[in-house]
Amino acid sequence: MSKAYEMVIGLEVHVELKTASKIFCACSTEFGQEPNTQVCPVCLGLPGSLPVLNGQVVEYAVTAGLATNCQITSVGKQDRKNYFYPDLPKAYQISQYDQPLCEKGFIEVAGKDGNKKIGITRIHIEEDAGKLVHHPELGTLIDYNRGGVPLIEIVSEPDIRSAQEAKMYLQKLRGILLYTGISDCKMNEGSFRCDVNLSVRKKGESTFGTRTEMKNLNSFNAVTRAIENEFQRQIKLVEAGGSVVQETRRWDQDKNKSFSMRTKEDAHDYRYFPDPDLQPIIIEDDYVKKLQAAMPELPDVKKKRYIESYDLSEYDADQIALDFSIAEFFETAVDCYYQPKLMANLLIAEVIKLVDKEEGLLKISPEAFAQMVELIDSGVINTSIAKKVLDILWEKGGIPLEIVEAYDMKLITDEAMLEPVVKVVIEENPSIIEDYRSGKDKALQSLVGKVMQQTQGKADPVMTLDLIKKIISKK
Ligand code: ADP
Ligand code: MG
Ligand code: ZN
Repeated sequence: MSKAYEMVIGLEVHVELKTASKIFCACSTEFGQEPNTQVCPVCLGLPGSLPVLNGQVVEYAVTAGLATNCQITSVGKQDRKNYFYPDLPKAYQISQYDQPLCEKGFIEVAGKDGNKKIGITRIHIEEDAGKLVHHPELGTLIDYNRGGVPLIEIVSEPDIRSAQEAKMYLQKLRGILLYTGISDCKMNEGSFRCDVNLSVRKKGESTFGTRTEMKNLNSFNAVTRAIENEFQRQIKLVEAGGSVVQETRRWDQDKNKSFSMRTKEDAHDYRYFPDPDLQPIIIEDDYVKKLQAAMPELPDVKKKRYIESYDLSEYDADQIALDFSIAEFFETAVDCYYQPKLMANLLIAEVIKLVDKEEGLLKISPEAFAQMVELIDSGVINTSIAKKVLDILWEKGGIPLEIVEAYDMKLITDEAMLEPVVKVVIEENPSIIEDYRSGKDKALQSLVGKVMQQTQGKADPVMTLDLIKKIISKK
């Protein structure tokens, strides 16, 4: 049934900017402090206080726009978005309505047939709200530390057609923003938050269906599951003759289900109007040029360079280039010892796995990694022993050569050392030798396996096979 339908998705992403102070006052933005210790009359919305825009916020937002191929406006305006909620003491949020800082951008993700562009409608600046804390005995409490922390909202076009594409878009966007250094983009701390707008339509239709908006998605996994779930829910509704209601839904990751929160407001419900306390934001060409010049090499360009100068595969280059810290690690390692292909393979197969397990910490130094690759190249260890070295480096640190010596991991390169082991294995397995003699050429492979086992993988399989043949032919 679901095969007849397609999903249409547009994403809204809120990103907390890494400025030292809030957007309209001098209060600190530091995360995780005592509740209500980072507040002042401005961010508490007390009467008579006036906002003063933090210039760094504009700089960061324009940087985000440039990094996502947006056009930068020359005159930005700030507007009041009116709604009443306890975490918003002014009863309005200062945001941008019809003159956002950035518009008409895109980012590219890998599609079925080459790259696909996902349009970015706009990027605007706004202030974050406070936070409601539900206490079991005391009831609902409010922490205003987050109130006034600067945000950018990145709104995508409804160009996304699957959960996988949504995830790729978000990973790419997060990867790019981390490169620019404007945010730490921590999903678990709420500095990178995503809302999913989703509608369904019959395949081949050209108009969009009615969308719902899902909130509270705080991991890539939650986004993917919420999308699949909402897709099925809407199809069932439509198939049963009903229709989708435009509403905001809250995703519950534990229950694997979304719940209706409220019917969706339209823009006119917010009574937007220009904030009379704030001047227009004038953005000069030179200012934009300066920020463009300071832009670091971004993932797409990096990826191309890796493919061209290191001969990496498209996939490998992508895996490394997307992650700022992995790319930096890789480039330092390549500078220490030039073996980019092998380094890329090991990084992707082994190191990224360890990083994922520990949530982003890279515990091996690129210098140690390079030394280890040098040991592989010079035949002291092989790649399967390298995995063990990496595990030890990760857990305890140290110098690769010393680890290899301390744990007796060097490859056996000397026939004389291998001979006693091979002899014992031959004696213990007379039936395998008989199989071989009766014409089963492959039989000896299992002896090689046994020798590898006995030597913890340090024997050279070719040398081992030769030696077995030599010994049994003498008998
Ligand atoms: P609002 O500010 O009310 O949330 P927007 O016009 O800014 O509304 O759109 C929010 C998001 O919804 C955008 O990412 C947009 O791409 C997406 N969107 C709009 N219409 C649809 C639709 N019919 N189906 C899916 N997504 C949609
Ligand atoms: Mg919205
Ligand atoms: Zn303040």
